[in-house]
Amino acid sequence: MSEAVPVEIKNTFNRMMNEVVALGSCCGCSMCVVTCPYGVIKYDHDSMFPYVAKPKGDFDYCPISEEVGCDVCANACERLGPERMRPIKPEEIDIHVFGRARREDEYYGVTRFVCAARSTNPNVVANAEDGGAVTEILKCAFEDGIIDGAAVAAPSDKMWLEPVPRVVKSVDELMQTAKSWYTYCATPLALKEAVDKHKLSKLALVGVSCEVSGYGTTFGADTSFISAERGEKNLERQNKHLKQYVDAVQFTIGLLCTETFVFDGFIHEYLQEKVGINPHDVVKVNVKGKVVTDINDGTRIETPLLEARVYQRHQCNYCGDFSAEHSDISAGGVGSDGWTILIVRSERGERIFKRTIEKGYLEVRPASEFERSMKVLKRLTETQRKRADEQYISIGSLRR
Ligand SMILES: Cc1cc2nc3c(=O)[nH]c(=O)nc-3n(C[C@H](O)[C@H](O)[C@H](O)COP(=O)(O)OP(=O)(O)OC[C@H]3O[C@@H](n4cnc5c(N)ncnc54)[C@H](O)[C@@H]3O)c2cc1C
Repeated sequence: MSEAVPVEIKNTFNRMMNEVVALGSCCGCSMCVVTCPYGVIKYDHDSMFPYVAKPKGDFDYCPISEEVGCDVCANACERLGPERMRPIKPEEIDIHVFGRARREDEYYGVTRFVCAARSTNPNVVANAEDGGAVTEILKCAFEDGIIDGAAVAAPSDKMWLEPVPRVVKSVDELMQTAKSWYTYCATPLALKEAVDKHKLSKLALVGVSCEVSGYGTTFGADTSFISAERGEKNLERQNKHLKQYVDAVQFTIGLLCTETFVFDGFIHEYLQEKVGINPHDVVKVNVKGKVVTDINDGTRIETPLLEARVYQRHQCNYCGDFSAEHSDISAGGVGSDGWTILIVRSERGERIFKRTIEKGYLEVRPASEFERSMKVLKRLTETQRKRADEQYISIGSLRR
């Protein structure tokens, strides 16, 4: 018997709500909220799922989608592909973002080069997660006028351990936002705030793989997928809304990511109750095969990653993208000590990276000197792709 040919179907709000949100694969990246031209979708920080602002309708009913024709949101969703219950293929996003699909030898996605980088400023290294390369690249972009704002994560007013999306508008503000938070933080919401509220027009977006991939599915693309079935006026509104973000983002930095943790579980049940740490005393968390927690009295507590994995967000099982394959520059620690491993993917990524070196902000070493990191990068890339495949197989979406 011949194999059935998959039927291409339109990306709609209804499909997104059923095949992503209700299915449980929605990562909460917030790109649908950012891109909705009619303000229909709001973000619910507590449940980490977007929800419809029209509570009287069915959860999968959007009047604009059904009666006017829009579905910009569904085209921004990296977990919704043109086949039922399947995500968009990474190679498809490649074409939108880089103008070509990855070659066979590009194991981590489209790549110009891989290297290790570290800030030349010891204060930045001391305050950063790994080598401080992300902070230095953003700093250079601010100073050169390439950006007037960046959408990043930052500590909330309540405690350092709780991240919130933040628009930073200066190098001083940027310096308060280094390090990593391993609970989810929808940084694209800061992109929206930067454009809508602060009227900034030159932005960098920093986020874990699913956050910058969502960018790739739409923003990196031309907006010709938009088709308003009912009239020019709607078409114009949808195009204009989306274009303002497309045009604003100057480059993205994607953080390598295996998983994020549920906030209450990781912070309260795990760190506080199980390990016995007061969350208000934590000044840094790093995950390096184990959970490394730094306390404000200078102590460091190391606990097995396997224990923390109980608190992993289940949505991450649907993610096969370890190395933020659709960012301009990907950054991770992957077993390196005090250095950031960078995968430079695009021309604009290369330009800003080289400029940061030119200004003397980064020292760089070849990837070949970081043999262990390269092995970890390959292993985690493989494991994560397999994990996502297994997850989609388990719901009957992919065949074995
Ligand atoms: C949830 C998460 C999981 C990660 N998992 C891995 C991993 O498995 N393997 C690996 O090698 N690397 C992982 N990383 C990346 C690593 O922790 C560092 O962010 C990366 O190496 C860059 O280091 P740096 O010193 O150059 O960054 P810094 O100069 O310290 O800058 C870090 C930037 O990341 C932003 N940021 C921090 N937390 C978040 C967040 N939750 N969401 C969005 N943006 C954020 C900050 O605002 C800052 O701009 C992960 C990062 C995160 C946030």
